[in-house]
Amino acid sequence: MAFKLSVYPWIHQARFNGKTWEEEYIEQAHHTLEKERAMSDEEYTALVDSRNSLPHLPLVNYSTQYGLSCFEGLKAFPQPDGSLKMFRPDRNCARMADSMKGLRMPPIDEKLLLNAMKETVRRNAAIGFTPKYNPVWEKDFWQNGDAVYIRPFSYSEGGIGINLSYLPWVITVCTTVSQYFTPGTNDAVTSKRTRATHNGIGQIKASANYVTSILAKAEAIDDGYIEAIFLDAANRHYIEEGSSSNFFALFPGGRLVTPAIGDTILPGVTRESIIVIAREVGLDMIEGDVLLDDVLSDAVECFVTGTAAGVTPLSSLTHLGRKQEFSSLEENSVAMHFLKELKGIQYGAVRDKYDWMLEV
Ligand SMILES: *Cc1c(COP(=O)(O)O)cnc(C)c1O
Repeated sequence: MAFKLSVYPWIHQARFNGKTWEEEYIEQAHHTLEKERAMSDEEYTALVDSRNSLPHLPLVNYSTQYGLSCFEGLKAFPQPDGSLKMFRPDRNCARMADSMKGLRMPPIDEKLLLNAMKETVRRNAAIGFTPKYNPVWEKDFWQNGDAVYIRPFSYSEGGIGINLSYLPWVITVCTTVSQYFTPGTNDAVTSKRTRATHNGIGQIKASANYVTSILAKAEAIDDGYIEAIFLDAANRHYIEEGSSSNFFALFPGGRLVTPAIGDTILPGVTRESIIVIAREVGLDMIEGDVLLDDVLSDAVECFVTGTAAGVTPLSSLTHLGRKQEFSSLEENSVAMHFLKELKGIQYGAVRDKYDWMLEV
């Protein structure tokens, strides 16, 4: 499974009271890690379930009933020197505030959220809930490296009418994650579904967007693929995104193309970072339309990016039974270069010249 959900004991809660954000750190039930590892499956499940519950949060509300919520996902990476560093957390805080504005909620205070993420990771680490750096990860360029996954999400006040959320919570939890995609042949397939439409909410990291992504990804997996690729709703001529990742295609001559940010594309922090690295290494980096036909006939490499996906090279893309293969997974590919560069920065092996890492 992609996310083994074992929520860490320390949780941060922020609540808008109509004027300001009130915050609180909550320590949920836990034992020492050693003791938790020795527990029976049943006991451990009960403990982790209790940790994944805040009884004062209302059951019936605009988030649980209508999907009126948004979230973030970012990681803190264990470093060889024993420290922990988050990757560009300021970008996630800014996007969380933007998402909340997009859903007409009072936006979270970005500074408060940044500090909350840091402090929550720190408190969990102080009681042993944090992965330790393992040099074995270097063998496959940290593709199987562990990290702390940080998940802030909005949660609305109780209510059953069709209403906006004026007094939301923003809850931040942490859990351990490792690899997101099961390794293998990394074949992707276009989805018949539509993730986002113009004047919709495709550019917001809204929970509601994930309904289609979950269905499309499940269908892709049923058919033996690792990822579903969404096409544009209006023409179905352009590639837009993966199920929860941004899409890049490399063409002959070093032309690297990714869809431009618009109201159907999620502005990924990984996407933004790969664009910087691509320009730095002298690729002809273009943010613009990615014509499906061009990718199927001319692309030499394709990959998807995201906090969970990292840089995932695609070995092929299939559209209506037509399969195009790519050299993205080969040792000296551009996709593999990005994968190594990004993971190298995140795990402290490559100099962080862009100042992207923030010590917890
Ligand atoms: C979160 C997300 C991404 C990736 O964004 P990152 O900031 O790189 O993690 C891409 N597409 C969608 C639809 C997303 O929700």
